Amino acid sequence: MALESNHNDLAAARAQHVARGVVTAHPIFVERALGSRVWDVNGRSYLDFVGGIGVLNVGHNHPQVVAAVKQQLDRVTHAAFQVAGYDVYIELAARLNRLVGGAEAYKSVFFTTGAEAVENAIKVARAYRNAPGVIAFRGGFHGRTLMGMTLTGMSTPYKQNFGPFAGDIYHTPYPDPYRGFSGDDAIQALEDLFATQIAPDRVAAVILELVQGDGGFLPAGSDFLKKLRALTAKHGIVLIADEIQTGFGRTGELFAFQEAGIQPDLVTVAKSLAGGMPLSGVVGRAEMMDAPLPGGLGGTYAGNPLACAAALAVLDLFEKEDLLQRAKALGSVLRGGLEDLAGRYSEIGTIRGVGPMLALEFVKNSDPRQPDADFAQRVTDACREGGLLVIKCGVHRNNVRLLAPLNTELNDAREALAILARAIEKARA
Ligand code: PLP
Repeated sequence: MALESNHNDLAAARAQHVARGVVTAHPIFVERALGSRVWDVNGRSYLDFVGGIGVLNVGHNHPQVVAAVKQQLDRVTHAAFQVAGYDVYIELAARLNRLVGGAEAYKSVFFTTGAEAVENAIKVARAYRNAPGVIAFRGGFHGRTLMGMTLTGMSTPYKQNFGPFAGDIYHTPYPDPYRGFSGDDAIQALEDLFATQIAPDRVAAVILELVQGDGGFLPAGSDFLKKLRALTAKHGIVLIADEIQTGFGRTGELFAFQEAGIQPDLVTVAKSLAGGMPLSGVVGRAEMMDAPLPGGLGGTYAGNPLACAAALAVLDLFEKEDLLQRAKALGSVLRGGLEDLAGRYSEIGTIRGVGPMLALEFVKNSDPRQPDADFAQRVTDACREGGLLVIKCGVHRNNVRLLAPLNTELNDAREALAILARAIEKARA
């Protein structure tokens, strides 16, 4: 079927041919993209502060990422690492091991999607500990595969109607000071879980996002994370940092665990790792990573050469373009602008996030217990109408999150804040 590249034709064909379970936040069709902007098939330009859901920390189609992929395309596109190795996979592993583990011995293995990285981190932890239990957090998001959705701490739409779930998974509450639940409360809840549900020696791993992404840009907080690190170390439990959304500069450091001042045992990476190419991985302590027997890890497309070449180019950009500094500068402009909005509009309950990973939470009557998802939706739609793409997050879907490329020009960030302000005005009308 030949389709005219025209909005109405594409919309009709999508409705007819694509399963409704895949939702699209914005009713637009992208024609091309560059840096912090996308253009739709009608030729309209948008500032893109979603970045393919946190995938484009270096921006759309970064020329150096494109060049690296083109160069690799002419060498080898697929060999299957289980059949024959190739240099870019090994080079990427060596670089990530150093970036995550520092002087300690870390090893890596690559996959394609974030959910696959999560699945495999759990496999590594269970093989290492020879214990089945895994503890995850309410409000966490870890993907849409059986293990990923079981670990996810949100019901509709991720888990509803998809059970039964994987076994031996336990959920515990995540710190949320805005709703009166502190880091110490969360540590106490975990201790209670050990006493009432599963003893620590049967627990393979605790997995968490250091700043919950889909769950609402909620930071766990350094104090809680240090206590969690100490508690897991005391029991020999593997601590898995799911850095799929927080990684690669999103919080202002290369990884959120560095920002928090802890050292996890395993780290899952994906999204912005490869600047738009599908690639994920698990990076972890060598003795843990080597627990699965030879043949226990892998996948036909896992660690695709084009994606590995893209990831190496992304890591180069962090050095060449001083992206962490730019991330911090972007974060402070955005936070300043959001604080200004919060002072003006009572619908904004709080500002969430760390560095340039920021969200606005909307509530009714300034009450944390009255999340306002409709208002967040109206703001999201009005932003698009004004030329800015954003998406929602939060267990109650009442947050609007910003995932701008880290090298977004500060003037574009200011323009985005102005569009956001007009969108809030429109949502109130
Ligand atoms: N973990 C986290 C923290 C995520 O944000 C996501 C995706 O949003 C995933 C896992 C799943 O990644 P993917 O959608 O690539 O399977």
